[in-house]
Amino acid sequence: MDLGTAPPELRLPVPGDAGTEWVERLAKSECPAFTARRRRRTERSGTPHDPIVWIEAKGVNVIDADGNRYVDLTSGFGVAFVGHRHPAVVGAIQAQTDRLLHALGDLYPSDVKVELLERLRSLAPWPDARGLLSLSGSDAIATALKTAVLATGKPGVVAFEGSYHGLAYGPLAVSGYSARLRDPFVAQLNPHVQFAPWPAADTPMAEAISGLPSDWGDVGALILEPVQGRGGVRVPPPGFLEAIERVCRREGVVLIVDEVFTGIGRTGSWWSSVAQGCTPDLLCIGKALGGGLPISACLGSATLMSAWGQPDREAIHTGTFYGSPLGCAAALATLGLIEREGLMERAANQGKRHLRALKQAGLRRVVEIRQAGLMLGVQLDQEGAALPATRSLLERGYLVLPAGAKADVIQVIPPVVLDDRLFDGFVLALQEALEKLR
Ligand code: PLP
Repeated sequence: MDLGTAPPELRLPVPGDAGTEWVERLAKSECPAFTARRRRRTERSGTPHDPIVWIEAKGVNVIDADGNRYVDLTSGFGVAFVGHRHPAVVGAIQAQTDRLLHALGDLYPSDVKVELLERLRSLAPWPDARGLLSLSGSDAIATALKTAVLATGKPGVVAFEGSYHGLAYGPLAVSGYSARLRDPFVAQLNPHVQFAPWPAADTPMAEAISGLPSDWGDVGALILEPVQGRGGVRVPPPGFLEAIERVCRREGVVLIVDEVFTGIGRTGSWWSSVAQGCTPDLLCIGKALGGGLPISACLGSATLMSAWGQPDREAIHTGTFYGSPLGCAAALATLGLIEREGLMERAANQGKRHLRALKQAGLRRVVEIRQAGLMLGVQLDQEGAALPATRSLLERGYLVLPAGAKADVIQVIPPVVLDDRLFDGFVLALQEALEKLR
């Protein structure tokens, strides 16, 4: 069976002795936050949450330290949209390693950085876009928040409950996902943030926008995800983003759209926001962009990005590795692949097909299944239920993540190269896992 397109094969326990040994070593050297989370999950769900240790990944498959083979329906947090270690991406990285690993970013850039920015410019929804490259999704959001405050002079931000924009200070302040993430750091976060409710897909429009603030006095930016990802694959009502854009235009507020999860094909087009009828002012991308390498970008129109002013002295927002040649080469290969192989159309079609397969399975304990392209969210009927369910799926060879602040959603984010046969195997495993749920 070819690694990359193979079904699960579990030879040893999940994890076996080798995996357990790695995890024990890790606990002695890693920040204890992650060990504590595992313990809490075990307590909450009554099932063990010892992790597996990844050794190799290709296509849709992951191999752990014990030689078990899994099908990855997380795409590694949405990164491996084109699959793990796609040959086109690996080839571009290898060619780049023969030439240039590192340049002087914003001072003496590399040729591939120029090429990537040109490529992103051609994909952006404005005729004359400008971009700033960085490493993580959080970095891109921080760039966007700084751009908005430079452009408007206003510190206020409107964000949404349930949203997730990353955990560096700027993004954390506008992440409404869970107060638990913000509370320990709240004294150091932007205090000018207001959270509005995020509407469900069937919320009437008047009600959907009724939670927006009435006073926009100090508000310079509004930030949203076109579909909330970590919040539980929450799709807004049709027309919601357009309505938000109208409000932003009326109030002179910069509309920041976080497409770190939804963008670059995942939801069936380059930009989910544009497909939903909205033109953002700033777009943030990351995750899938580098096909596995860390690279992100904040894009905006030339007019808005001119807020960065007269760059005659210091570069006021940069980073040592921003626009790294390896990341740029990987991103160029990934974007080329998505376009050449029609992977956006495939994501749109596969998403609909997988939704049908899930619905036809008549799954127990499921109250709703939400879908946007290849983002699928299986809403369970009880807080915390996604923890034992995702564990049980892992023990059947399928990697999926719990989502939603109440851990009541199973997030299914497969690589676009996953075939129907493997998805149908997952549906059977999900059926079994939900049957067994107490
Ligand atoms: N924005 C969204 C929508 C995300 O889903 C994430 C990460 O999950 C981020 C931003 C933050 O990205 P990163 O973890 O690369 O900083």
